[in-house]
Amino acid sequence: MMTLRDLPSVDELLQTQSAAELIAQHGRPLTLSAIRQTLAGIRSRFLAGEITSLPLHGLILSQVDSLLDAWLKPTLRPVINASGVILHTNLGRAPLSDATIRAMDMVARGYSTLEYDLEKGARGSRLIHAESVLQKLTGAESAVVVNNNASAVLLVLSALANRKRVIISRSQMVEIGGGFRVPDVMKQSGAKLAEIGTTNKVHLQDYEEALQEGGLVMRAHRSNFKIVGFTAEPELKEIVDLTHKAGSIFIDDLGSGAMYDTAKYGLVHEPTVQESLAAGADVVCFSGDKLLGGPQAGIIVGKKELLDKIKKHPLARAVRADKTCLAGVTATLLHYLKDEAEREIPILKMMSLTPKQIWGRAEAWRQELGQGQVIEGESTVGGGSLPDESFPTFLLSLTVESPEKFLKKLRTQNPPVIARTANDKVLLDPRTVPPEQEGALLVGLKNTLNS
Ligand SMILES: *Cc1c(COP(=O)(O)O)cnc(C)c1O
Repeated sequence: MMTLRDLPSVDELLQTQSAAELIAQHGRPLTLSAIRQTLAGIRSRFLAGEITSLPLHGLILSQVDSLLDAWLKPTLRPVINASGVILHTNLGRAPLSDATIRAMDMVARGYSTLEYDLEKGARGSRLIHAESVLQKLTGAESAVVVNNNASAVLLVLSALANRKRVIISRSQMVEIGGGFRVPDVMKQSGAKLAEIGTTNKVHLQDYEEALQEGGLVMRAHRSNFKIVGFTAEPELKEIVDLTHKAGSIFIDDLGSGAMYDTAKYGLVHEPTVQESLAAGADVVCFSGDKLLGGPQAGIIVGKKELLDKIKKHPLARAVRADKTCLAGVTATLLHYLKDEAEREIPILKMMSLTPKQIWGRAEAWRQELGQGQVIEGESTVGGGSLPDESFPTFLLSLTVESPEKFLKKLRTQNPPVIARTANDKVLLDPRTVPPEQEGALLVGLKNTLNS
């Protein structure tokens, strides 16, 4: 009959070779606490009668090893996105260009001129880094980069609209996702919401009447849904002109903030930053990691006088971009300035792939796996951009016993593979899988097919 006295002590376990190896790998304090937790678990299971014999040293240490693995495994890990959703918010939106990664890596590794003026040998400003590129690219007088577009909207409204009326159409009272609702953010900023129009229609006259009582005008782009049918909305230029005639300010929350015409990829035209400024918008804000294809950031461009107020607001400090973000945004913007965006920015490369190129890759996967069919399908933009818009693509379709179980198994691969199912098939879209991940994808698929 075993008693708890037969359980090895912490000290005894520490004497073993396996413990020495774990300590070398994970450090002494963490290994020690894993040994203690493992022993405590065994003790309580033994006392509860769940186990009747006590494990030997080797088995205990292998439990310690598993516990350490579980503790140390990062929860934020790379995955292979075979879903065909290009800007997948849950999968981290835009993958970055090589130059962007290099720029971020460089400032992360060492000291930098983040807030240092080399000429003067004195303190400089972090606000200048992306600004001149944004000025050249958009023609805006001034620009600032913050943490993300949600904070950009909050900052702009806090700095310009606190205790003021903000006129906005009911058709733009959008929820972006993750609880970001335009009306809530407006309230948070201290702005007084002045809703006009109806869910489906707003007329120039609605703006005109509302402006008689004063206030700013805001547009929030309907990034993630469409209003179809019996609808009406004045042209941007008309609203901006009316706002200016009333001596007021027009703020445009573009959301995605494309720098190019998405129509050239066969999608609907997404309003661009340049168009919004050309229509006369005083302040325009957009995301860095949606259609721009850069790192997470919120970009605010517009009139100098207003941007100066925004930059000086106390919240600007709270939502400021860090050095890696500033380096990355600048590097991504430079691709546009140098007219090489389509060659360098991963999401643009994905959008430019022709069905024929994608067919070739799906067919190569099929041959490598020795099974499946290549079928026509659709990839989507995703990421709260261009709702319902899709690209024709080719998919590798696999017939398996249980598609759901198969997807689950794919997610346990290293790296995990994210795919989708439809009509009882497992579907894999080459559009969102960069060529350098193809090898790992095929290994993951073979493992799953053979298990
Ligand atoms: C996506 C989006 C936001 C939020 O931007 P993040 O960069 O995700 O914080 C705000 N407004 C609109 C219209 C959007 O589409």
